[in-house]
Amino acid sequence: MKTKTKLTLGIWFLFIVILVMGLTGTHYIYKMGEDAKSILKDNYESIEYAKAMMEQLDELHTADAAKTQTALALFEKYLVLEKKNITEIGEKELAEELSLSAEQLKKNPASTELMLSIREKLFKLSEMNMQALVRKNNVAQKNAQQAVIYISLLLAVCVMICFSFIVNFPGYIANPIRQLTEGIKQIANKRYDQRLHFQAGDEFGELAEAFNSMAKQLDTYENSNLAKILFEKKRIETIINNMQDPIVVLDEANSILFVNPQALAVLGTKDEEVIGKHASDVALSNDLMRTLLSGQFISKELKIYANGKESYFVQEVFDVSNENKKLGKVIVLKNITKFHELDEAKTNFIATISHELKTPISSIKMSVKLLEDDRIGLVNQEQKQLISNIADDTQRLLKITAELLDLAQAETGNIQLSFRKTAPKAIVDYSIDAVKVMAEQKHIKLEVNYQPNLPEINSDMEKTAWVLVNFLSNAIRYSPENETVTITISSEKHNVVFSVKDQGKGIEEKYRTKIFERYFKVPGLDKNQSGTGLGLAISKDFIEAQNGTIWVNSELGEGSMFAFKLPIA
Ligand code: ADP
Repeated sequence: MKTKTKLTLGIWFLFIVILVMGLTGTHYIYKMGEDAKSILKDNYESIEYAKAMMEQLDELHTADAAKTQTALALFEKYLVLEKKNITEIGEKELAEELSLSAEQLKKNPASTELMLSIREKLFKLSEMNMQALVRKNNVAQKNAQQAVIYISLLLAVCVMICFSFIVNFPGYIANPIRQLTEGIKQIANKRYDQRLHFQAGDEFGELAEAFNSMAKQLDTYENSNLAKILFEKKRIETIINNMQDPIVVLDEANSILFVNPQALAVLGTKDEEVIGKHASDVALSNDLMRTLLSGQFISKELKIYANGKESYFVQEVFDVSNENKKLGKVIVLKNITKFHELDEAKTNFIATISHELKTPISSIKMSVKLLEDDRIGLVNQEQKQLISNIADDTQRLLKITAELLDLAQAETGNIQLSFRKTAPKAIVDYSIDAVKVMAEQKHIKLEVNYQPNLPEINSDMEKTAWVLVNFLSNAIRYSPENETVTITISSEKHNVVFSVKDQGKGIEEKYRTKIFERYFKVPGLDKNQSGTGLGLAISKDFIEAQNGTIWVNSELGEGSMFAFKLPIA
């Protein structure tokens, strides 16, 4: 049943209760009124008439004839009224007898006998009505008592029904609303298992159905979302766990969020010892973590001994951010052991090949020298030119093999350094001597700036001179003719700085860091392809092996300045 119908029925019920009570009360009050009226009219009036007639009879005693006539007339008038008000059995007959006696009395007003008989009859009439009055009064009283009982009973029933109505009806409307409010509160607190149980059939039933279906859908949605998120989390964790490279994930406060098994292996620690801890706290007792946090091995080879073998890694750090907000960072150790081993094999191969080539090339050089000698035999002009070409190429081959050997040495970490206290000027003089001829051929002036009283440096004289010769020969090679190459030596704090400045084309920014890499040559610069792209790479190794630093300053069109610095002895 609809709530609206229930409310209407409730109000109708109350209306009917009021109506029934009202009608019953009115009915009994009306009935009692009628009883009283009938008593008054039927009997009381007859008694009054009998009394009036009796009074007129008393008037007849007086001798006055006029008065007698009036009394008789009035007697007759009351008798007529009485005849009109006949209500009791025998009353009519009594009235008729009275009428006859009255006729006789008119003829003989002084008859005492007649008067006595009339008096007796009037008394009878009065008595008859009096008795009827008492009887009817008793009936009326009984009716009144009955009315009180009926009305009381009805009242009791109505009171009981209304009471239960008062007790139950507000709850009938308010309870579902309270339950619904409670349900909505629970849903707001994400308790989607909440359900409402109203009796179906009314608006609250429909409401409960709608609410339950909403809660169910929210529940499904929440569960599927959670399941999806958990699944995605698991998937990402599995991916990270299966990566061959060690990975450490930190949050924005540098606390460790995640470490994959490979990272745990190289760190030599366990999950529970690091997860949730601050990275710098872990670093206090873990050398590798300290090294990783310092970032000193970013893009550099890092050798780690773990699981009974040596492995090589390059550290990479990725900042993780979201809409300008830093979320943390990921440290990845790229396992480059394989490449390292390949590189080593290649270096060994290069070393062996260049070593093996050196002897036959030297012997070719020797043979060419002999061919050039007139004492062996005369050659014509064209043959002379060919021999000279062979000599040049042989020289170049020797240079390449020598550089390859140096490189192999540097790469295997086998640079043999013989440190000695050396005067910087000595290194410069030696280098200038080595490139003098080359400079003269291109009419290039070599200018030297010495700072007076330069301190000595602790270095390998040959290797350092090799680097400076490489700088100078590059400067001469990449400068136009008739230019000047400036060599400057100066001291700064704990170092002596050697620099070579040329007036060449300069180096574009994008190539500036790459020229120190092996085999790299700036495209389109080395027209006769005489370089190997190894000189600067070897120079870097030589300088860094002596705890020095090497760098270049250059702008396109403004020449280049190559420099290195070495610590003072
Ligand atoms: P290379 O044997 O080719 O000279 P290097 O390692 O000495 O090898 O130099 C690497 C590259 O750097 C060269 O090929 C050249 O393109 C560039 N380079 C070196 N020195 C200079 C310089 N002074 N001016 C312009 N470019 C230079």
